[in-house]
Amino acid sequence: MSEIIVGRIVTITIAALGVFFGAAFGGSRSPPVAVKPIEVFQGEIVELKVSGIGLAAVEGQLGKETVRFYPSGRGTFSALVGVDLEAKPGPARVLVKGTQRAGGYRETQIALKIKPKAFEKESFSVPPEFDQLSPEVLERIHREQEQLTRVFSTSVPERLWENPFIAPVQGDISSSFGYRRVINDAPRAPHTGVDLKAPMGTEVLAANNGRVVLVGDFFFSGNSLVLDHGAGLYTMYFHLSEFRVQEGAEVRKGEVIGLSGMTGRVTGPHLHWGARLNGARIDPFELVKKSGGMSDKAFRSDAAADKVEK
Ligand SMILES: [Zn+2]
Repeated sequence: MSEIIVGRIVTITIAALGVFFGAAFGGSRSPPVAVKPIEVFQGEIVELKVSGIGLAAVEGQLGKETVRFYPSGRGTFSALVGVDLEAKPGPARVLVKGTQRAGGYRETQIALKIKPKAFEKESFSVPPEFDQLSPEVLERIHREQEQLTRVFSTSVPERLWENPFIAPVQGDISSSFGYRRVINDAPRAPHTGVDLKAPMGTEVLAANNGRVVLVGDFFFSGNSLVLDHGAGLYTMYFHLSEFRVQEGAEVRKGEVIGLSGMTGRVTGPHLHWGARLNGARIDPFELVKKSGGMSDKAFRSDAAADKVEK
């Protein structure tokens, strides 16, 4: 088992799955190699690569979440693994199960070390109607959360995306991922996406190939669109002024899916871009950075910019 860096993605290769598993199945083969845990920060991603002779399929599990591996070469399977921005720092394990063509079944664990990230704090105010919520509004928010939970539990198993990912608009960051928020003087949920500067009506592009699995008007996020990129990966686009695609549509990377706006709980026009991978809320720019699609411009953060939504 070795560790290499490919395109800024940490790649773990279990060189020969059968040998690696050998010790666990009777001790007649070489013992498992002691491997240093892979360090991943909260809100970030890591790519795992598993290879072995005669491997037919691989699946993984991190906590209660399924990690979906996809074929990535002869006898090799890869998966992107996301670590939630509020994941508990410390050791974690990805359980990996490999099915062999001959019918055998092997499993191993890949050790992760979740590192805490120092998220900054930001304070801003929103109008009272977005802060003092009536029972009717709370009921609506609850329904919307359930709707999202349903959407996030039905990912297409196969991978639909192709590297690299692209940013949906060219604007600078006006509110970073993970900011601990104080809204109207009260501590709130952290920022689960990135806010990008986008004047009203800016074309919003699909970050990658996928399927439109949600189009709707939500209380906090306004006109919201969710793309399923398959294999447990979703990207979200909030506060749109217009949709350009319908639910169920297949979209290609770079296709215009809507126009930016300021619907929902906002203090100015912008695009909120979010991503979710194996149930974890991750920084969407992780996808751009670690898939070879990085541009320096995309990472310029401007704290003085217009404030925003959730
Ligand atoms: Zn936002």
